[in-house]
Amino acid sequence: MKISLGLPLPSAGALATVISGSRTTPLVPASSVGLRDRYGRRATDMRLSLTDKCNLRCTYCMPADGLNWLTKKHLMTDNEIVRLVRIGVEQLGIRELRLTGGEPLVRADLVDIIRAIRTSHPDLPISLTTNALGLENKAQALKDAGLNRINISLDSLHPDTFAQLTRRPLLLNRVLAGAEEADRVGLGLIKINAVLVRGVNDHEAPQLLDWALTRGFELRFIEQMPLDADHGWTRKGMISAAEIRQRLEPGFVLTPDPRQRGGAPAERWEVRRRTAGGAPNAGVAGTVGIIASVTEPFCSDCRRTRITAEGKVRSCLFSHEETDLLGLLRTDADDGAVARRWQEAMWGKPKAHGMDNAGLDTADYVQPERTMSAIGG
Ligand code: SAM
Ligand code: SF4
Repeated sequence: MKISLGLPLPSAGALATVISGSRTTPLVPASSVGLRDRYGRRATDMRLSLTDKCNLRCTYCMPADGLNWLTKKHLMTDNEIVRLVRIGVEQLGIRELRLTGGEPLVRADLVDIIRAIRTSHPDLPISLTTNALGLENKAQALKDAGLNRINISLDSLHPDTFAQLTRRPLLLNRVLAGAEEADRVGLGLIKINAVLVRGVNDHEAPQLLDWALTRGFELRFIEQMPLDADHGWTRKGMISAAEIRQRLEPGFVLTPDPRQRGGAPAERWEVRRRTAGGAPNAGVAGTVGIIASVTEPFCSDCRRTRITAEGKVRSCLFSHEETDLLGLLRTDADDGAVARRWQEAMWGKPKAHGMDNAGLDTADYVQPERTMSAIGG
């Protein structure tokens, strides 16, 4: 993996270029506002990883033995996180923040971090992606601190299958209790993220949808991406969006959600249950989202900028480059210099991830070195 250390500034207004290794990397124009890239996109949605650590070992994400966790001095502190969010919001046009990991609930200062961000930004939508272990006891404090919404990852409603996927036994009930508690304290519309793995939980798609609809949660199926530590992903093994829709078909009728997608990764569908005779019920039971990152990519409308737990910008999940901001934060650099480096990193955002190419199972696609948990999903 190549780590870029920020680029020299171009002359005012010019679209200069610099030779980086064998590539020619265009530099961000000095007049650029916000986190723009060369293809006309503007990132306004910040995904910030609070830690690379996790208490589960989902087969599509983490290796069985975990990773070499970052040491404390390499992780962003609470103050550094709050400063970075402030720079993003005040100088770079960030409009939405998602906290993720690893598992953000393992961070002891999570509630304090959210409270501090909320104090500085009363109107910023703040959400959290979590496996929900421990949420039962923290949901109220998170809500009180200013968290708006929560995404919970849940791939199976069967204890044995859950254990097989997460490589940890006896935890499903705690996740379900966490989801209920988040709902009880009013943590917005709760979204449930599910990854289907062929031969393990793919038969559960209808059951997961029924469970979510019954509780008023929005289920989102995520196509499995080649970001696992075990490099076990294959295109044939992946359950595609088309296959997910097919599997839901016997029990549900899906029609495109008329609301604008607006750069959201999930394509949303209104769901009607089928009657015993197979006809759709008149009333809409809820919505389901399908995130088809591999087979129906949405790169051209991507609005995300990612910061890893050690303060590096990743312009794309599938990027092979990262740009260090934490090193700069730890010097006497002012906010403008940090913002500028962040802009430079985003200017180099790749046009697309390339996974949709038919040649994915060949050497065309190079999996990034870091796994989903280490990048921040
Ligand atoms: N630990 C938290 C959780 O599981 O929700 C937050 C981090 S996790 C990396 C964020 C999301 O990424 C989860 O919903 C998880 O299912 C998803 N994810 C992880 N690896 C994935 C992969 N290879 N393909 C698709 N989604 C993945
Ligand atoms: Fe942990 Fe989330 Fe990765 Fe599962 S998906 S191993 S819960 S970081």
